[in-house]
Amino acid sequence: MKHLFVIATGNPGKIRDFAHILGTENKEFKTLKDIGFTDDIVEDGDSFEANAIIKSSTVAKWLCEKKIEASVLADDSGLEVFALNGEPGIYSARYCGYHGNDQANNDKLMQKLEGVKDRSARYFCALSYQKVGEVDGKWTVSEPKIYEGECRGQINFAPAGDMGFGYDPLFVPDGFDRTFAQMELAEKKGISHRGNAIRAMKTDLDGRT
Ligand code: IMP
Repeated sequence: MKHLFVIATGNPGKIRDFAHILGTENKEFKTLKDIGFTDDIVEDGDSFEANAIIKSSTVAKWLCEKKIEASVLADDSGLEVFALNGEPGIYSARYCGYHGNDQANNDKLMQKLEGVKDRSARYFCALSYQKVGEVDGKWTVSEPKIYEGECRGQINFAPAGDMGFGYDPLFVPDGFDRTFAQMELAEKKGISHRGNAIRAMKTDLDGRT
């Protein structure tokens, strides 16, 4: 039987990243929608790690109550610009003041960087992993294990490209002369913060089996 991995996201694109890197031979991947989880999760942590743990532990507890054996994975990511003391950071999705407007977020970042020489930045991803299962006859949730991934680069002087999402039209990864939004998904996945965090987890899990 395949081992169930629940990815604490509603985004099917993320599932594809996890499945592609971790492999599907003995694993099956499901989103929150797939398992019927509809509760609101309030991500009010003060770091990427804290928010990833809030997500994984809420979903793991829900699965545990239903006695469903699974591994739960939750990631929280964002962009950190060093000259701006790490902004937008955990506020990446709502830098402009409200959720879900990539254009307004990018405009604000460009404004903040006007006249700033050092445009170095990184994308960062914290990935929290927890196991739900029966241990000595008792249903339990394991302590969260955190994996990290980053991708360093520069903030461009103008947006370029129409692939990707979020800050991708502004982010030029080190070693490239194109933005993330000018890269095919497979190329981005090979160097991205999320890809690197998933690969760190894979190395650890493979080492333990
Ligand atoms: P999430 O934690 O993956 O939902 O990411 C939170 C926010 O960080 C997104 O809404 C984006 O603004 C930004 N972000 C995270 N990862 C990426 C990426 O790979 N490209 C562009 N923006 C990203």
